Parts: sequence; structure tokens; C-alpha cells
Amino acid sequence: MGSFRDKLTRFMYGRYGIDKLYYALAILSFVLLVINAFVHSSILSIIVWIILILMIYRVLSKNIYKRQKENAIFIKAWNWLKSKILLAVRRIKEIRTHRYHRCPHCKAMLRLPRKRGKHTVQCPRCKEDSKMRVII
Ligand SMILES: [Zn+2]
Repeated sequence: MGSFRDKLTRFMYGRYGIDKLYYALAILSFVLLVINAFVHSSILSIIVWIILILMIYRVLSKNIYKRQKENAIFIKAWNWLKSKILLAVRRIKEIRTHRYHRCPHCKAMLRLPRKRGKHTVQCPRCKEDSKMRVII
């Protein structure tokens, strides 16, 4: 068993291995597999195969720099998507007490108390005053 481990270690030396994009692709392919169990689509099974081949290719790839760049792009996109989802959830949770508006100067999201009418708001990021209307 030890020799197999040594062989595997020697084989994986200089190769990229596993990262967050790998786990995301694994979860995506699993979800598609579960969906395909109900739908029975050949296109979906081809997509799953492409994802699995891509996963293996990335793990065994020796172009580490390129794989790290792909992973960084994925993490950036994932964090962007996660922040949008969390903001949407927060907006729904606070729909009775607060309203969200973008600052016209720096585009930061501002959380305003739900009071009907025009308000002068100072943005905490850019310190600019702007008039905003809250519609209930
Ligand atoms: Zn601002």
C-alpha cells in the first residue's frame, strides 16, 4: 500500500491537484446527474461527461499558473454571486423596516429606514450628500 502511495505522490508531483473550482465542478456535475435521473436527457449527460473530463484534466494539468488563474476567476465570480444572493436575502428579510438604494456618486448600496418621502442622505463611503425618495 505504501508503494502505491509513493507512486501516486511521484505521479502527482508538478501537477495542479484539487482546488475550489474542482469542488464546485464536482457539485455541479452531481446536481446535473441528479436532475438527469429524472429528465433522461442525452445533452445533459454529455455536459456531465465534459465537466468530469475537465475536472480530471485540471487535476492532472502541469500548467499550474493557468489553473490558478482559472481558480482565481472562479472565486471572484463566486464571491460576486454570493454577495448578490446575501444582499437579496437581506432585502427580503428587512422589507418591513428598510429600503435599499444605490449612492448616485459611488454606487454603494445604502440601507435607509422605511420612512415615506424625500430624505437627504450622506453616503458613508464617499461622504457625498444626495437626495433620495423612499416609496413604500
Ligand atoms: Zn457614495
